[in-house]
Amino acid sequence: MTATLLDGRLVSDLLLKGVSHKVSALKKKKIAPKLVIILVGDNPASLSYIRQKSRAAEKTGIICEVKNLPASTTTKNLVGLIEKLNKDKKIHGILVQLPLPSKIETPLVIRAIDPKKDVDGFNAYNLGKMFLSKEFEKLAPCTPSGIIKLLEHYKISVAGKNVTIVGRSNIVGKPLAVMLINRDATVTVCHSKTRNLTDYTKRADILVAAVGRPNFIKAAMVKTGAIVIDVGVNKVDGKLVGDVDFKAVAKKASFISPVPGGIGPMTVACLMENVIKTFNI
Ligand code: NAP
Repeated sequence: MTATLLDGRLVSDLLLKGVSHKVSALKKKKIAPKLVIILVGDNPASLSYIRQKSRAAEKTGIICEVKNLPASTTTKNLVGLIEKLNKDKKIHGILVQLPLPSKIETPLVIRAIDPKKDVDGFNAYNLGKMFLSKEFEKLAPCTPSGIIKLLEHYKISVAGKNVTIVGRSNIVGKPLAVMLINRDATVTVCHSKTRNLTDYTKRADILVAAVGRPNFIKAAMVKTGAIVIDVGVNKVDGKLVGDVDFKAVAKKASFISPVPGGIGPMTVACLMENVIKTFNI
């Protein structure tokens, strides 16, 4: 078997086109959708992610302003800035680029963002609402949304499927599990304390790797014909690679998402969709 590629670049371009139509409609009503991204310090990975977000915003017509604060910024200063942005009616989305420097209290910062402008979907209010049902997933976290949309594009139904997610972070694994349960999947979430991991990965109809370890998922851990989603972004010898041993696993899977060109661009496109969704909340 050779897997069909789940092409995140292609699907994200389609999503961005949809967003730009909505931006045009808003502009006709004299509304200019605006996203503010706050970066504290100069983490090179963060700078690269922000460049991708700014480029996508430009493609859609969303105004994207990056506020670059010094690494010495305090939690109080950052929260103060967010409170100012919350009140500014010309700003529709606020995103704080993570990770923040360790001396900043990240939970307090995330909590300060007005849930109606929380386009990353990390605020407890938006995360909590997702638990109710699919209909309440308004500003859902972008990476899980991107995974769901990529599967939908390829007409892969998750209902009744066994899905195993490796990774239980608050931004990927946990919210994805909730979104999949909302769509009638049977979900198993694994993590570093899981015993006999292969027992769980091998029975997955859909396997999601969100670990942050290059080539962690080997072909022997995957069921023949499985659908494999690689969320990982790792740098090896200056090259981006995922969490999945792509070459070997692609021979066994029915569908596979590549790195780069898979979940990364889908995440950015879903962020742009969230900026537009802030108008219907
Ligand atoms: P994270 O917060 O570091 O979480 C990693 C998860 O993997 C944790 O739940 C951890 O378990 C689990 N894990 C670590 N070693 C394991 C092992 N040996 N066996 C089983 N599970 C193990 O990472 P994250 O933020 O979710 O990100 C995961 C990866 O996705 C990273 O490479 C990140 O760069 C990438 N990412 C990509 C996008 C995108 O847009 N493409 C977005 C977000 C993240 P414990 O909880 O027990 O520690």
